Amino acid sequence: MNNRVNRVVLVGTGLVGSSYAFAMVNQGVTAELVLVDLNKEKSEGDAMDLNHGMAFAPSQTKIWFGSYADCQDADLVVLCAGANQKPGETRLDLVEKNTKIFKSIVEEIMSSGFDGIFLVATNPVDILSYAVWKFSGLPKERVIGSGTILDTARFRFLLGDYFKVDSRNVHAYIIGEHGDTELPVWSHADIGGKSIAKMINQKQYSHDDLEEIFTNVRDAAYHIIKRKGATYYGIAMGLVRLTKAILQDENSILTVSAHLNGEYGHDDIYIGVPAIVNRNGIREIVELSLEKEEQQKFDHSVEVLRKVMDPVLKA
Ligand code: NAD
Repeated sequence: MNNRVNRVVLVGTGLVGSSYAFAMVNQGVTAELVLVDLNKEKSEGDAMDLNHGMAFAPSQTKIWFGSYADCQDADLVVLCAGANQKPGETRLDLVEKNTKIFKSIVEEIMSSGFDGIFLVATNPVDILSYAVWKFSGLPKERVIGSGTILDTARFRFLLGDYFKVDSRNVHAYIIGEHGDTELPVWSHADIGGKSIAKMINQKQYSHDDLEEIFTNVRDAAYHIIKRKGATYYGIAMGLVRLTKAILQDENSILTVSAHLNGEYGHDDIYIGVPAIVNRNGIREIVELSLEKEEQQKFDHSVEVLRKVMDPVLKA
């Protein structure tokens, strides 16, 4: 009999990682959750604290402070380790610091015999997803970045608020870099089958309001970091959503950082696009037919990422 259960290893139990662990336990997503961090004391404390909530959880999760050796039997490794954005810093400023950290982490994970899926959240997430793909040697569909999953969620929340409709009924994507050059795909944004582009011709809605909504999405991290130093709850919930899509083989469409191989006119780059996610990772990238201006903005986003990534990862 095969007694294998789902095991997720979380590397990095800082603000994002520990919020993810808390959300995982509350939603009962996996049978085993292993916590790994350089800061052993903090991580051990988190394991104890989370275990003490088990009597109130919807299902049982076995949680322990572990090591990279535990990755051998892991289905999913979630990477939240590394430096975060300081006030005034862009996500791209973090690239050198976090690439170095990731090289050693991924090498240790791979030497355990890990053969599952990587989910990357650390910033700059698109570049680090590429780095994990390169360092691990795994097939591209098994390295997934959280990409614009959070930006898309913010977008859906603000649009839902504006049009007074449940954000779960808003279908709209933010694509491109998880950062300053991301863009909204207005040409494919709809609510319950009604195109948002058409809805704004009605007099109670305006183009300017929609532009402001997008600006607030793009700059959300800066606004939150200014107020409370870091962002973590939203991304943690997004990572749980992705974890579910993977472990439960959902074939869900989510905006993730995926490796492009000709899609959207680009090659050999990880960037935020809608993709179908299941137990094997990324089943397929959903290629939207972008309007000319959207395509130009997407191309610009790719270019900005390449400029930062190439000297570090392709030198
Ligand atoms: P944090 O400083 O609170 O936590 C980082 C953790 O990584 C710490 O516990 C630290 O001990 C650990 N760590 C550092 N080096 C390590 C190593 N070599 N091995 C193991 N553990 C190591 O930071 P945070 O606020 O949790 O943010 C983590 C990352 O997530 C940052 O890069 C941040 O920018 C990113 N982030 C991404 C999104 C997104 O949408 N993808 C959103 C928010 C934050």
